[in-house]
Amino acid sequence: MTAFDALLISKSDHGQTAEWTSLTEDDLMEGDVTLKVTHSTINYKDGLAITGKAPVIRRWPMIPGIDMAGTVVRSSNPDFREGDDVLLNGWGVGETHYGGYAQMARVKGDWLLPVPSGLSRADCMAIGTAGYTAMLCVMALEAHDVKPSDGPVLVTGAAGGVGSVAITLLARRGYEVAAGTGRPETAEYLKSLGASEIVGREELAGTPRALGKERWAGAVDVVGSTTLANVLAQIKYGGAVAACGLAGGMDLPTSVAPFILRGVTLAGVDSVMAPKARRAEAWARLAKELDLVKLHAMTETRPLRDVLTLAPEILAGKVKGRIVLKVG
Ligand code: NDP
Repeated sequence: MTAFDALLISKSDHGQTAEWTSLTEDDLMEGDVTLKVTHSTINYKDGLAITGKAPVIRRWPMIPGIDMAGTVVRSSNPDFREGDDVLLNGWGVGETHYGGYAQMARVKGDWLLPVPSGLSRADCMAIGTAGYTAMLCVMALEAHDVKPSDGPVLVTGAAGGVGSVAITLLARRGYEVAAGTGRPETAEYLKSLGASEIVGREELAGTPRALGKERWAGAVDVVGSTTLANVLAQIKYGGAVAACGLAGGMDLPTSVAPFILRGVTLAGVDSVMAPKARRAEAWARLAKELDLVKLHAMTETRPLRDVLTLAPEILAGKVKGRIVLKVG
């Protein structure tokens, strides 16, 4: 049986270790579709998993990588055949089921989506969980009736993966987008994606007031903690915040004031267990609405082997936009 390369994270009394190893298909976990992984990516959560900074991995040893794209080599699932191009985001892959940082994977066909027409496997990983979550956030704002005519919307963690794609999608739909960033040097980049205003991270820091000046019709927040509390206090009457991240912390030091005095909605967004129909809608919209020129401009391609160096960098907020990992 042919051997293939995989990154395996193991745990011992001394902590966790990551090593490149050689596996065969017999080593893979259960599933009805086997694929040759051609591309993956690195998300903030992958950084947490590889470094062990948060308990993302819950079964040991584990091949990390919450995203993968590849080609089916074997399938007993009626929805997929040999040669199909497929993508996978989440569903516990890279956490409790072997993930995308390997040349082969075996997964449940129910977790897979076909690569949408108009996108390549590399494009799908340039989007990755970060970009698909950005679309879920846009859908959440729309579901809460935040319209371009209501005023500017804010995107926090703007120069990161979710933030970069969210800006691009919102601007394309006609929203006036303000980019909240701690990296002023990315201002030109953020404007090239469609932001019309740059908001310094310090403006969203500090002890949050119960209510502040009404600035934003809505927001996409990837930071959480004090930042999200400050954002909530600045949302206009009847507005909404799509909250998906914790790059600044998991706490939320806020009050009920924005909710009961301004009718603000805090809409939680989860990509991992999102139902298949919502994923399919998000991916169909990404294929139709995401400007591929901007996607490619925000994306860097690196070999899979670089992922161990990239993991601490993404946690330190040093990665700009998106990274595609070429596997094999
Ligand atoms: P990135 O690292 O690419 O982007 C995060 C950005 O947040 C950074 O680029 C930086 O933006 C900002 N940031 C980082 N640290 C801090 C800090 N201490 N205070 C304020 N801002 C900070 O990560 P992703 O875009 O991949 O993910 C963003 C967040 O969303 C993560 O917490 C991730 O876990 C979460 N997420 C959640 C999902 C879900 O299903 N709910 C799915 C996908 C992601 P800048 O430099 O512009 O300030």
